[in-house]
Amino acid sequence: MISPFARVSALVFAALCGLAVALPAASRQISDDPLAVFLAAPGDDFLITGATVFSGDEAAPSVQDVLIRDGRIVEVADVGTVIVGEGVKRVEGSGKSLIPGFVGMHNHLHMPGAPFMGDVAARLYLAAGVTTIQTAGSADPIGELRLARQVERGTAPGPRIMASAPYVTGPDGNPPMDKPASADAARRFVDEWADRGVNTIKLYRHTDPDIAATIIEQAHRRGLRVTGHLCSVTYAEAAEMGIDGLEHGLHPASDMVEDKPRGACVPSLDAKAALDVDSPQIDALIETLVSHDVELTSTLAILESRFPHRPQADDRTLTLLAPHLAEASRARAEAMAEIETSLSTSPAYWTLLLAFERRFVEAGGRLLAGPDTGRHVLPGFGDQRNFELLREAGFSTSQTIIIMSRNGAHALGLDKETGRIAPGYLADLILVDGDIDADPSAIREVEIVFRAGQAFDPQRLMKGLEGQVGLP
Ligand SMILES: [Zn+2]
Repeated sequence: MISPFARVSALVFAALCGLAVALPAASRQISDDPLAVFLAAPGDDFLITGATVFSGDEAAPSVQDVLIRDGRIVEVADVGTVIVGEGVKRVEGSGKSLIPGFVGMHNHLHMPGAPFMGDVAARLYLAAGVTTIQTAGSADPIGELRLARQVERGTAPGPRIMASAPYVTGPDGNPPMDKPASADAARRFVDEWADRGVNTIKLYRHTDPDIAATIIEQAHRRGLRVTGHLCSVTYAEAAEMGIDGLEHGLHPASDMVEDKPRGACVPSLDAKAALDVDSPQIDALIETLVSHDVELTSTLAILESRFPHRPQADDRTLTLLAPHLAEASRARAEAMAEIETSLSTSPAYWTLLLAFERRFVEAGGRLLAGPDTGRHVLPGFGDQRNFELLREAGFSTSQTIIIMSRNGAHALGLDKETGRIAPGYLADLILVDGDIDADPSAIREVEIVFRAGQAFDPQRLMKGLEGQVGLP
């Protein structure tokens, strides 16, 4: 389902790559570079030696040297065999893991109460190893587009940003979202935002099925991707309409509700939570999604936050949250410890959500990942939590990296540019201090994030952000 979008992303990407080529490291004036303060070292020529390389495909990891020149990976070879010229900086990688930068597919630049926190969020994403994001719904699309261009030009730190149009919903939906009331209005909405340069339209829970179908058709005509956090439209209906992606795994699916009136958003949790992952309804749903090539975005970090038996905010998160949000988070965790578990917040339902994603992949489905920021789930930290949770769901380290990098790149039409460690690819890389295979939580120990060969220092990116996340 990438072809409609490939053209647009190629344009966006051409601009990015052009920048990297136009400004070789040698000619870049460090003092003039607004990103210099965030870098571990200047330039975009590096040799990373002796790291355990997870290449972003099924192959087993191996210890190798990786040469980066002018922002791209030019060689991946046995340790000690790469011949480097002058001006190439060596980065010691032994005992460390090197993986492709994450391509986050549900990575907002807003949180409830903070309609645009792009400057802070972009730094956090990059610090955590996220080198490309699709925002998957925007509360401030103009702000997103502006920041996307600043990142492209190298005047703001952050991942490359694929911006979204305003959310689309129906008459019962939240006020800031767009509610096209006719097919004509729906087509105008798509055209207007396509012209402005977004790549994605996100359908939200109350969208009318006929409006949804019109938007998908027009979006594909304009080369845009359509994804949904659905309720009024079932997954099967959306698949038939040709939707590209569905958000939050199984959780929002209303397909299991018996006699659901068409177009009505009705409670669906109890109809799902009791199901076994081997039940015929689950089989049928997976078969429908896979046969229609619908991508599914895993957002386990945000889903985890609704389960009382799961860990809530950790200390590093509370330190970054704005004081009023840190307080709310502590209060919420205390309240959750008190409430009685219902079916839809039960350990069994959590297990079903994990198992569904594994079954979807086993059946040939393409799983993507993003944290969905909110509550205590922060930009970047949420992506790292997803890594841990996908491992907990039973995916191997290599599979988890494919889900978090290469599959997202594929969905964005960037799979020839990012998401793998191989010659010719952009040097979008995460150097992790530790063995992420033996200990998934080592993913939190990011030492350097390379984005198109620029070596960002997470500590420098995060400096001064304490208490800043989610300020209005
Ligand atoms: Zn979201």
